[in-house]
Amino acid sequence: MKIYPIETGNFKLDGGAMFGVVPKTIWQKTNPADSNNLIDMSMRCLLVEDGNRLILVDTGLGAKQSEKFYSYYFLFGDFTLDTSLAKHGFHRDDITDVFLTHLHFDHCGGVIKRDKNQLLIPAFKNAKVWSNDSHWKWATEPNPREKASFLKENINPIKESGQLNFIQKNAKDQVGFDVLFMDGHTEKQMLPKIEYQDKTLVFMADLLPTVGHIPLPYVMGYDTRPLLTINEKAAFLNEAADNNYYLFLEHDAHNEICTVKHTEKGVRLKETHKFTNIFN
Ligand SMILES: [Zn+2]
Repeated sequence: MKIYPIETGNFKLDGGAMFGVVPKTIWQKTNPADSNNLIDMSMRCLLVEDGNRLILVDTGLGAKQSEKFYSYYFLFGDFTLDTSLAKHGFHRDDITDVFLTHLHFDHCGGVIKRDKNQLLIPAFKNAKVWSNDSHWKWATEPNPREKASFLKENINPIKESGQLNFIQKNAKDQVGFDVLFMDGHTEKQMLPKIEYQDKTLVFMADLLPTVGHIPLPYVMGYDTRPLLTINEKAAFLNEAADNNYYLFLEHDAHNEICTVKHTEKGVRLKETHKFTNIFN
């Protein structure tokens, strides 16, 4: 097995929305805001090469939305999914599986693109696309609070593509790694937990967007069940500190990986790492 971080670009989100009840005077120490109160976010995906399979975990927000849409998110950085794949010698048509942690647009938008006639078509023509039945149902019958995150131009074409598959309880048999299911951020978010080079790497998606979100009450305003996020995060971070997991941060624009440790105040940041300093 070989694993590669895949940068797909950066964007900005409202810092207050990203930290829920935590005041700016506190969160801005770890996640400085610009004059519009926006903080830097990455869309850092993961590519898992395992035998003859090439599995992409999340896709970033893609390139098919309107300029107006993108103007709300202040895209920046030099990376695209295609240039990041090419850096490791891959092309999007090589991808055999796209594993979507959940169907919010900043995670799944890249799975659909527009053809030259502006029709919405699969962006990974040779891939299976993985979600799960509970989350799919949740996303296709969205509550008013999440509706703006579940875009019909993502969901409908995925359904029509014939590529959609659902992860079952035996995820390892389906995609070759374990999957943790989390319900606080959205229904049945899926976090890959991968044994790699004698270490455990967990793709944190929206359970832990940045290192600034490690203390338990630091929960995004976007989460649908924030008290459940706190419980899920508490249990997970204890396990991560006990077992020295390497936490892969999808949304932290400044840190690829972190580890955590037990302290008197609870679990806190131990170290941050570049992916290539831990894995070769
Ligand atoms: Zn999300």
